[in-house]
Amino acid sequence: MRRVLIGGLACACLGLGQLSTALASATNNWGALEILGRSVAPGETVRMPFLLGPSFVGSFLDTLVVVVRSSRPGPTLCITGGIHGDEINGVEIAHRIYAGGTTQPVAGTLLVIPAVNVHGFRTGSRYLADRRDLNRSFPGSATGSHADLIAHALFTELRKHCDALLDLHTGSNSRTNLPQIRTDLGNPRALDLARAFGVGVVLDGKGPVGNLRRAALDVGIPAVLFEAGEPLRFDETDIRMGVTGVRNVMAHLGMSPPSTTPVPPSRVIRRTTWIRARGAGGIFLSDREPGDNVRSGETLGTVTDPITETTEVIRAPQDGLLIGMAVPQVVLTGYALFHIGS
Ligand SMILES: [Zn+2]
Repeated sequence: MRRVLIGGLACACLGLGQLSTALASATNNWGALEILGRSVAPGETVRMPFLLGPSFVGSFLDTLVVVVRSSRPGPTLCITGGIHGDEINGVEIAHRIYAGGTTQPVAGTLLVIPAVNVHGFRTGSRYLADRRDLNRSFPGSATGSHADLIAHALFTELRKHCDALLDLHTGSNSRTNLPQIRTDLGNPRALDLARAFGVGVVLDGKGPVGNLRRAALDVGIPAVLFEAGEPLRFDETDIRMGVTGVRNVMAHLGMSPPSTTPVPPSRVIRRTTWIRARGAGGIFLSDREPGDNVRSGETLGTVTDPITETTEVIRAPQDGLLIGMAVPQVVLTGYALFHIGS
């Protein structure tokens, strides 16, 4: 048995039929969804800009919002991509969810914002126009900086509508991540979402202050973050895993029939360690890949100073799973090279 929050009411749900019955009684006013000045009727799909009114700040929120509504009552699942504008795997996962009408909920509502930081998406940047990180700015403020205003406008809408939230990301700054879910494992409903996503690896953590999943969890919305791949590059395997994960979560929430393929179990990781370049820096080459199980003392890669020809051998300090790493490149001393989970 699992618990699902629908319209602010917690109900115990076993399957789609029972869920629908529970929803019908829990959601007495299933009708038009009022969002961003539009009214979206049951059964309707609408694409509209977010905007923030006709203003200079609003022009930085001229990003697409897609609302897909079933004619039957159910929860609202929110999907956000591109909060870091260069993390385009997440943008493409969100795109494939609404593209061609291929993912129609049989109950409830999908609310998709595929490129939240549309300025960063257009310019290939992680950051907002003021060089702040949107994912350190939630829940934002109506009287703060540019980033505060953008975060506040977004979070106000998400808080109003979302019964569950999936936030789609990749590794940052020339690093790649093994497909993984991150959330607060102490939150049972978030843990249920994480397991339902079915990507096989779940990391514990609410994320840093200002992170969207932390802000959502703090106001009672179960939220998980999906990480896969590296910035500025599509990875077809990772994208497909993300799309499957979203559909698995929809089935978990009773928004679509259960998948005929069993959701794989998840390996839970509670502690992670970054291994950094400690020598003089130089040319980083890796011997391993994300997903490798490593043993303490094993060689993971090398960093070679091209002037002195001195090579630093990077070794695993503990047993664990390689959940992320820098892509081969020139690195400075102190650069984070390998991320091991245990
Ligand atoms: Zn990110």
